[in-house]
Amino acid sequence: MKKLRGVKQLIFDADDTLWENNIYFIRATENYLQLFDSQPEIKKRVAKRFNEIEKQVVTDLGCGSDSYNILLRKLHDEFQDKLTDRTGKNSVEEILEKFNLHREMPPPLFRGVSETLDEFAKRYELYALTKGKQDEQSDKFLRSGLRGFFREIHIVPEKNDKVYKKLIEEHAWVPKETCMIGNSPKSDINPALRCGMWAILIPYRHTWRLDLEEPMSGHPGYRTVASFPELLNLL
Ligand SMILES: [Mg+2]
Repeated sequence: MKKLRGVKQLIFDADDTLWENNIYFIRATENYLQLFDSQPEIKKRVAKRFNEIEKQVVTDLGCGSDSYNILLRKLHDEFQDKLTDRTGKNSVEEILEKFNLHREMPPPLFRGVSETLDEFAKRYELYALTKGKQDEQSDKFLRSGLRGFFREIHIVPEKNDKVYKKLIEEHAWVPKETCMIGNSPKSDINPALRCGMWAILIPYRHTWRLDLEEPMSGHPGYRTVASFPELLNLL
């Protein structure tokens, strides 16, 4: 793999790029759907409604754990009469309690993240750009032990072309000297490429459904690596 030339600043996504995140949401959703295992037709409806309510909640309130709590409670309001005490009429609270534990713990870093950032910090200016709520995302950075690697952490409700353009303008960056790194084609890769940056996709099998789209893999600025430490082959 040929190294990228002339890059000065690296921007990192956080969730599911530096650390695991979506897995908690997936587990809680699976736990909820399992309550309907004995009623396959209803289970299908619950799954469909989950997707619909999720879209609505994310549009209205943004993504993150608070939104997820609201989403699951709304879903449960619609379907709790299909459950009995035995099948878990009240277990939504238990499921959410378990889900919310991840907000107190250090986010589980992917293999080699600290070491790789340590190496990059010697050669590049490092920034983070993450989507979600201010307090939740900045807390995660603090608990992760990675905060010190980054000059700035930008927390935004949505990562679109406008956000990338604004970052470029505010810092007077040359887009070709800037590289975005992340797991989401929709939020990290395609908007960065459209703004003239390099973009490196680290695909992740549990990437959030709403963060997926086809990456612009034919773009000359597009690269992909299989794991975080493999970024060192390109940078
Ligand atoms: Mg991500």
